[in-house]
Amino acid sequence: MALEFFNTLTRRKEEFVPLNPPHVGLYTCGPTVYNYAHIGNFRAFVFEDLLRRYLEYKGYQVRHVMNITDVEDKIIRAVRETGKRREELTEFYTAEFLRDLDTLRIRRAHVMPRATESIPAIIELIARLIEKGHAYVSEDGSVYYSIRTFPEYGKLSHFKLDELRSTGRVQHDEYTRESVADFALWKAWDEADGEVRWASPWGLGRPGWHIECSAMSMQHLGETFDIHCGGEDLIFPHHEDEIAQSEAATGKPFVRYWLHNAHLLVDGRKMSKSAGNFYTLRDLLAKGWSGREVRYALICAHYREPLNFMLDGLHAARAALQRWDEFLTKLQDTAGDCTDGPLPVGLVQAFEAALDDDLNISAALGVLFEHIRETNKRSVTAPEAAGMLAAWQRFDEVLGFGMPERAEAPADVLALVEQRQAARRARDFARADQLRAQLLQMGWVVEDTPQGPRVKRAAGR
Ligand SMILES: [Zn+2]
Repeated sequence: MALEFFNTLTRRKEEFVPLNPPHVGLYTCGPTVYNYAHIGNFRAFVFEDLLRRYLEYKGYQVRHVMNITDVEDKIIRAVRETGKRREELTEFYTAEFLRDLDTLRIRRAHVMPRATESIPAIIELIARLIEKGHAYVSEDGSVYYSIRTFPEYGKLSHFKLDELRSTGRVQHDEYTRESVADFALWKAWDEADGEVRWASPWGLGRPGWHIECSAMSMQHLGETFDIHCGGEDLIFPHHEDEIAQSEAATGKPFVRYWLHNAHLLVDGRKMSKSAGNFYTLRDLLAKGWSGREVRYALICAHYREPLNFMLDGLHAARAALQRWDEFLTKLQDTAGDCTDGPLPVGLVQAFEAALDDDLNISAALGVLFEHIRETNKRSVTAPEAAGMLAAWQRFDEVLGFGMPERAEAPADVLALVEQRQAARRARDFARADQLRAQLLQMGWVVEDTPQGPRVKRAAGR
């Protein structure tokens, strides 16, 4: 079966055919680094990680670019409020963001350009838009995009331009859904911006948010590339504006597949600090949840379904991962030294068929947990267990939950096991029991099997 994605641009599922296989260009809008990212943000990043990992599983060579927005209205406000330098503030939250990605087992993008390091590319793109008549310089030295020069404006969000009320110009990076306005590509410096300013042909100022993503994506992926992702709240105006800027400048299609994840609710409500249901990753870690449990809770619903994040979901994630670990540990024990076995082809096909269908993760997880239930009902041979382990290792490349570590007993433990065997052979059972207790204290359990003693990690270690 072919891999299909729901494309926001065409509003239907389409077969995914990259421009230049096996290469795939993937751009995902990154964080604005003025504070810790919250779990609503991480829903998008976890979904994008699933997408990238599955493309890699399918054999594509993905080039993943994620921008870091380190100049923006909210950052300037935070600089004013904290009295910190912009560099200091954004470097701190960028480092925290990267740490959170690692905790959630999200593969880092290959390129993570900062907006402030991309100013020349941004200025060049703005100049191109002015030259082609799609942008104009205002009295104060700001540059605006002229929406009426791009008749296709609205094609991503499926708004018709003449149905929208034009409200003139907006300075802010975000404006309301109901209004359409010429938006700022370059914002002239004013006193409130403090030290945050760069020289441009139009005077001192700073770039707007939307132009950053057009400039950085095209700089690193080319003028037309395969996939652009983000949360559905970015469709309008951010991504609509990216299309207008990029396609007006190049005359070429900007992005071939647009994938957007639905929003996240917490306890059935929109997450907000005032409602007391606002969580960062560090909040959840402090409550005793692990990164992989949060990853599971964020990944387990289909990305286009709104996700209601609740305590129940984290408990369910913990239980699911426990089953995952127990099953795989048992397979490891059964396989023993056997590393070669038949791949469970039907299982692999069912897993792939689910994900080929617009990343239907709930179906894919359903396939795996059904397999656990069925396998637990019967006995499994060592080669069979080895084949299953090989398949699950591949599934885990996509899911990123991690395989349980095969516990290799250290030499001192093995020596005690040997002494215990000697005691048993001498029928000194008191001594053998004493050694078993000593091993348990060290975190190891000995099982006597027909093939001899087998040592494994005690549960809960
Ligand atoms: Zn963006």
